[in-house]
Parts: sequence; C-alpha cells; structure tokens
Amino acid sequence: MNYEDFHRRSIEQPEAFWAEQAAAIHWRTPPQRILDYDRPPFRRWFVGGQTNLCFNALDRHLDERGEQLALVAISSETGQTRELSYRQLHAEVNTFAAVLKSLDVGRGDRVVIYMPNMAEAVFAMLACARIGAVHSVVFGGFAAHNLALRIDDARPKLLICADAGMRGGKVIPYKPLVDAACAEAAAPPPRVLVVNRGLDPDHDWVPGRDVDYAPLRERHAGATVEVEWLESNEPSYLLYTSGTTGKPKGVQRDVGGYAVALALSMWAIYDIRAGQVMFSTSDVGWAVGHSYNVYGPLIAGATSVLYEGLPTNPDPGVWWSICERYGVRTMFSSPTGIRVLKKQDAAWLKKHDLSQLQWLFLAGEPLDEPTANWITDGIGKPIIDNYWQTETGWPVLALMPGLDMKPVRVGSPGLPMPGYRLRVIDEASGEDVGPNQKGVLVIVPPLPPGCLSTVWNDDARFLSSYFGHFKELLYSSLDWAVRDEDGYTFILGRTDDVINVAGHRLGTREIEESVSAHPAVAEAAVIGVRDELKGQVPVVFATLKAGGQADAAAAAAGMRQCVVEQLGAVARPARVYVVGALPKTRSGKLLRRLLQALAEDRDPGDLSTLDDPGALDEVQRALQRGA
Ligand code: ATP
Ligand code: MG
Repeated sequence: MNYEDFHRRSIEQPEAFWAEQAAAIHWRTPPQRILDYDRPPFRRWFVGGQTNLCFNALDRHLDERGEQLALVAISSETGQTRELSYRQLHAEVNTFAAVLKSLDVGRGDRVVIYMPNMAEAVFAMLACARIGAVHSVVFGGFAAHNLALRIDDARPKLLICADAGMRGGKVIPYKPLVDAACAEAAAPPPRVLVVNRGLDPDHDWVPGRDVDYAPLRERHAGATVEVEWLESNEPSYLLYTSGTTGKPKGVQRDVGGYAVALALSMWAIYDIRAGQVMFSTSDVGWAVGHSYNVYGPLIAGATSVLYEGLPTNPDPGVWWSICERYGVRTMFSSPTGIRVLKKQDAAWLKKHDLSQLQWLFLAGEPLDEPTANWITDGIGKPIIDNYWQTETGWPVLALMPGLDMKPVRVGSPGLPMPGYRLRVIDEASGEDVGPNQKGVLVIVPPLPPGCLSTVWNDDARFLSSYFGHFKELLYSSLDWAVRDEDGYTFILGRTDDVINVAGHRLGTREIEESVSAHPAVAEAAVIGVRDELKGQVPVVFATLKAGGQADAAAAAAGMRQCVVEQLGAVARPARVYVVGALPKTRSGKLLRRLLQALAEDRDPGDLSTLDDPGALDEVQRALQRGA
C-alpha cells in the first residue's frame, strides 16, 4: 500500500484502521470497543482489551526465537558487553519480577528507576511491566534535586538504582544522590533496591530501607512470575519531559495503545522485522529509550542494542564498529550526537563495514542541513529526520521506508504518521495558514494510540498545557512549523523561541541554520535579546569545529555574512559569541531560555535540567568579554 492511502485510511476510518493494527500484538482478552471518545479530549483506545507489555516483548517470542539475541548491552565505560537471548532475558526479567514481588510491589505501585544504560535497567522496566507496576525511569545524569521532584510527584513504593554510573572513564556515584533525594523529598520514603556494579563499594547503607539486589537475585533465580493482565488504558509508565521550556510534565502512558503504536512504527517507520537488529544510542531514561531501546524492538522480535558510553570512546568510530559487529539494520540517534562526531575527523565514518546498515534516524532537535549533509556523505546512507515528543511516544512526522519510502527533503522531518491529523494554524486567529506559511503545529484530537493519556495525577495540567491554547479543542505541540504544498512539514522551533525584530517574526531555527552553514561552525544557538530600538535582536552563541578556535573573530564575521546572505539584513545577528560549549539539557537540547536570561542579565531560574555547568560559566565569561 502506498503512504497516502495508508495515512488517509488511518484518519478517515480510525477505528477500522487501528483494529487491524491491534492484531499485531497479543491480547489476553480482545478489546470490546476500539475508541472511546465520550469525554474529549481524553480518549481511550482498545477499551476492555487485556494485555501486557512484558508478555508481548518476551513470552510471545520464546517458541519461535528463544535462542535469538534480544538484548545486547555494550559499555565502553566498563568494557563489558552482555548478550542475552530472548530466553535469557525472559529468565532475568522473571527473577527481577520475583524480587519486586518479594518487596511487596504490585499492580499500580510506582517504581522509580535511576540507572545508567545497563542491562539491569531493562530488566527492571520489563519486570515492572510484567507485574503491572508503573515505572518511572529518571535519567541517571540528573542530580538529587531532580530526582526528589520526581519522587514527590510519582510517590514510588520502590526506587531501583545502581551504585554508580560512568562517564568518560570517571565513576559517577548514584547512591549518594539517591540518599540526598530521599532526604529532600516530602513524599513517604521508598525502599531502595541497589544493583551493585562494584564501581562505588563504599556507599552508605540505610538499614531497613536499602536492599541489595545480588542476594535477592540468587534467591529468586529460576522463578517464574505470572503476567498481570492489564486493561488497555491502565498506566504502564510515567516519564517526565526534558524540561527545556519549564517544569517537566509527568507523561502517563497506557498499555494497549502504546504496544499497538510501537508495533506499527517498528515495521512501517523503522523498517525492522523480527530477527533484525536496531541500535538506538539513546539513554533508557528518555522517550526514545523507552520506545526504541526497550519496548519497540522487543515487541517486534528484533535485537536491541543498548550502549553506555561516549560516542568518542574508545574512539569516534565506536558507534560504527557496533553497527558492523552486530549487523545493525536501523540506527537511531540525535542531531546532538552527530554534532559531537562532526567535531572529529570525518575519516572515522569510513573505517567500518556498514553494508548491513540501511537507515539512520535522527530525532530530538532540529536537524540542520550542514549536519544532515555531513553525515549523509560520511556514511553514505539515507538519514531520516523524525519529529516527536515525550508526550507522543512515537513519531508524529517521519518517513515510512518499511511501507513506502518517500523522498527525503532535507530540513523536514517528513510527513504525518498514521493516526495523526495535523494542522498548522495561526497563533492569534486559530485559522489554518496557507502552504509555506508559519504557524503552530497542532494535532486534531483524539490523539492516536501511543500518545499520553494524561499528565500524571493532574488532568487539569493536561488540559491547560496542551489543549488550552485555541478556541477549538486542539493539541498544541508548542512548536512552530511550516508545511509545503506536498505536506512535508518543517519545524521552526518552540513557540516561545521566536524573535521579533522590529515587527519581523524570525524563527531561531532559521537563523541557526544559516549560521551553521559557515564551515567553521560546529553548533549554534540563536536567541532574541531585548533591544530598545528594535524590540529584540538576534544574538548568536556558537561552538567551532576542532582547530577552528584560533580565528574566532573571522568566524564570527563569516557567520553574520551567512545570515545576511540567506535571510537578509533584518536577521543580522547583533552579537556573535564564540564559546567552548553550549548549555544543554541532559537530553542534549539547547537551553535557549537560559542563554536568553543570561544575555538579558536576568535570573536564569530553574537550572535543574542543565547538563554541564561549565557551559554556563563559558557563556558568562563570553558575555563579560563582549562579542
Ligand atoms: P519540555 O516539554 O519539558 O519543555 P522538551 O519539549 O524538550 O521539554 P521532549 O519531549 O524531550 O521535551 O522534546 C520534544 C521537543 O523536541 C519537540 O516539541 C521539539 O521542539 C523538539 N524536537 C524533537 N524532534 C525534533 C525534530 N526532528 N526536529 C525539530 N525539533 C524536534
Ligand atoms: Mg515539550
């Protein structure tokens, strides 16, 4: 079937369409009603259907592919690689589930997981899913305060952590952060289950609260734990958004709709069938990690590769060596990750046999054209930009090589995915804008399967954050977009990231694109800074490629030149600061609101999601030095 017909059917006959897709997963009891939209914008998919994510990810595959690799967990930090077949993973997850039950964790209980990209993080997630507990993975790089906020919101019965993570060869203790978070949180303190990696043997131990995983694992080895069958709309997990624009929101995911959406996306978008290998470089703590390191590939019967470590360690070819070694068919990473490699010699892209690799998907941030071209030329494979949000759980915009591959248009994440009815509307009037005109990207509800059910414990915030922006009931993505005549959509940046220069509204994204066109630039962030005369002026912060630092002044002049040539004098950056690092969230997204606060000499506010405080110092020094 071609893309157009497939998408049209998903919109015009959603119930028939999704009923067909639902056949891809195992239901203990089939759904009685495909869609319940009696209480807009809340919607329930596959009502009355009973299923389980863990059963679909593991048990269902045992007969046919028990000996096939399910999970490969590679750590360039510890130097260890663990390879688990479906049968072995099933056994580990059953043991872990038995341990959870022995700690009195059951259906509906929340479990916070605070671990690095290691196999046990996957065991823990699947074990929760098996017994109907609601996991909430908190990215291991977050500080104690972030963890405390999430403990207070999710109110977990149990917290599972590792003793430590590692980054660039340095041990990063986790347990002291857990102790600090438990002390800070107002919620009743959870039990703490510690998976000791032997990296930080001297951590404190709170008797009566802390439990060591290893002896429990031994005690419950060989256990089988019955699957808890859940109604399709019960919560499977909570996941907090990155916090790029403010306080993170606790996205609540369901069971059945999520499984069905993932199953569809695996073959149609990521072009992965049972027996094939997918490698996502994401952390399990992000939405991509949940959907495409854990649940998606396993539901599809594929092999999932999980990687702990830097993209440059032991050398900048490490990702491609993994692709070669495991015959990866589809790889998934982020523009930020590729820009890290872009600072290195492009020769690293050519050192490994990538004949099995078919596609590289990138998501999470705008993919600028120079980066897209650099990596396309470097590995000689199609690069597919895809756009989604923690909230949606799977792509909103992408291409579908597994169904009908449409041509890539560089700069655009492509076309609407099945079930997504998208409009681009004027912010003020709420009317549709014409082709090639800028507006807000919205989803016409009901949201398709896979998207959030609500904000955890806060229906009011679900309504006000996403549905309270227009007269009509529409889900706002809070992103600017432009759609061309053929439906290819371009994301221009966040709705709170627009720069208004003397009445001209400029997207930060367009200016970043043209700054990045300068050959010396590795990465650029553009913000609007208050200006008495013009209202706002564009200001650039940029990092340069290795070896380029020597001539920062020439590079800055060149960047201005690029903008003037491509966008006109109105967009000419008022100031260009060359820095060694840009402030980002832990998930690698540029923190433009932080740059803006610093440049306007305001209080930067909540810095809890900032990754590298060094980047903040860099920016402050640059501002003091002047552009
Ligand atoms: P918060 O909502 O807490 O501010 P966040 O929006 O950064 O955090 P995520 O859900 O991780 O949290 O990120 C989704 C956002 O990332 C999108 O709304 C969009 O702004 C951006 N994004 C994701 N993929 C793409 C892409 N392919 N192109 C452009 N932007 C993208
Ligand atoms: Mg967001």
